[in-house]
Amino acid sequence: MDIETITAAVGGLKYVKNTFSYLHTKTIDSESKKKVEEALEKFGDIQNALYSLREENFSIQTKNEELRKKLSTYENWEEKISSYELTESPGGAIAYYFKDDPQHYACPSCANNKHELHILPNGDCIGQSACPGCKTPFTIS
Ligand SMILES: [Zn+2]
Repeated sequence: MDIETITAAVGGLKYVKNTFSYLHTKTIDSESKKKVEEALEKFGDIQNALYSLREENFSIQTKNEELRKKLSTYENWEEKISSYELTESPGGAIAYYFKDDPQHYACPSCANNKHELHILPNGDCIGQSACPGCKTPFTIS
């Protein structure tokens, strides 16, 4: 049930409730008045249930939107990481190697744990460098 349907139901219920409230103000026999009061009480219960449904629906829609975004990020990630392969660099580091140009390596920890690609610098004169994301040392070249 979408939010417009719930809002329409609340509006329709409000109209019926107002009609019964109007009838209640009119001079009617006590038995009818009691029935109208019972009906008004039931309308109140239904109205509260609809308000709860509307809140729950809003909450579900918000969660759904979050999950759609996560799924989209995941789908984009699969495409990105497919351009890399886990391999051993000339310096002995295990890292993701970019299969196209420009050639580079990316940190496997950041890729696997955070779905982030951090390019590993070639390093200093002895080939030592650190991931810009997690600071893990690597010997690429
Ligand atoms: Zn890293």
